[in-house]
Amino acid sequence: MGESERVLRPGALLLDMDGTLTRPLLDFHRIRADIGINPGEPILESIARMDQSRRAKATAILERHEEMAARESTLNTGALEILDWARARQIGTALITRNSRQSVDTVLRLHRLRVDCVIAREDGPIKPDPGALFLACEWLGVEPKDAWMIGDGRHDIEAAVAAGIRSVWISHRTERSFTAMPWRNTDDLLALMELLESTCEGPTAAD
Ligand SMILES: [Mg+2]
Repeated sequence: MGESERVLRPGALLLDMDGTLTRPLLDFHRIRADIGINPGEPILESIARMDQSRRAKATAILERHEEMAARESTLNTGALEILDWARARQIGTALITRNSRQSVDTVLRLHRLRVDCVIAREDGPIKPDPGALFLACEWLGVEPKDAWMIGDGRHDIEAAVAAGIRSVWISHRTERSFTAMPWRNTDDLLALMELLESTCEGPTAAD
């Protein structure tokens, strides 16, 4: 790797949950059908537009799906290693998700995951709003320019682009179906680990 390609070690890792740390379990088609949201419509944004009584019912359906998925969740290969790698280097970690706080707590407990900060949808602006990423950086005491956002979804990359934060898109070997440009692509968390291992602490800027 040439000098100009050297990548600085991140100051913090901001991580998506479903599909990134865990294998994707949420069946968004089924959730939309159960709630009565048109195919392709964003679920949280659609619920937010509903009147109060419909919103309460829709939220209950969504939370039931999320809790079931959380209880049956399995980790993606490399998830624990990534968190261990960061902790060993005192690199802060944040889990940033559009899922409910309860489902996050279930996943963290089930897999004994340790992250430094959790931002669930109840905690602030949801991705693709960059606010959740800024909040995480603030809590972790890092500048956004030094953080990396890791995620498998459109919202992760859109939020990172809007925040001016480097993003690594976990593609799971699929084609990108959204326009926001990730800073880097990796097939999976093992490839992300290789990228992290290749970073250096020196003053050479990434790009
Ligand atoms: Mg995801």
